[in-house]
Amino acid sequence: MSTVVYARVPDSLKQALAVRARERGLSLTAAVVALLERGLDATEDERAREREGELAASAGELERTRARLAEAQATLALAREREQLTASSFRALAERARGELASCPQCGKPVRGSDLLVSGHCPQCVTPLTALLLPRPQTGAPDRDAYLALLGALGGLVGLALASTSGAG
Ligand SMILES: [Zn+2]
Repeated sequence: MSTVVYARVPDSLKQALAVRARERGLSLTAAVVALLERGLDATEDERAREREGELAASAGELERTRARLAEAQATLALAREREQLTASSFRALAERARGELASCPQCGKPVRGSDLLVSGHCPQCVTPLTALLLPRPQTGAPDRDAYLALLGALGGLVGLALASTSGAG
């Protein structure tokens, strides 16, 4: 079954079609039909290639997203590991800080690490304990002010460790 298509084309195109038909021993109609079919096939192929290209781009994007996800998971695992290490360091420090470390020079009652480092005085008689922190005079002994500043910073950390672990006090 066939039907008729009216199409106005430029003279030059009609001449080219006539030349092509003559060369191939076809009627003008047969040459036009062959060219149109070829053109339609080419358009289909082009669309298919475009779809393949889009599909490949989507697959690439998916791959990159997976890689980013894996990277984020690795970072999270590392952060958790660090957090656990920090928590266990804090627990160890808090445990030490709760232990008896010295005795009060005034009343002789036991003094814990936290009394020495955090409150800075005897829990019984409130005598300042900073003197217990002083290093003995010796070669290479730390500078007194720097040493006390360091202990102050450490005391802050101990206080934090005590507060962040259960059974503080
Ligand atoms: Zn005391």
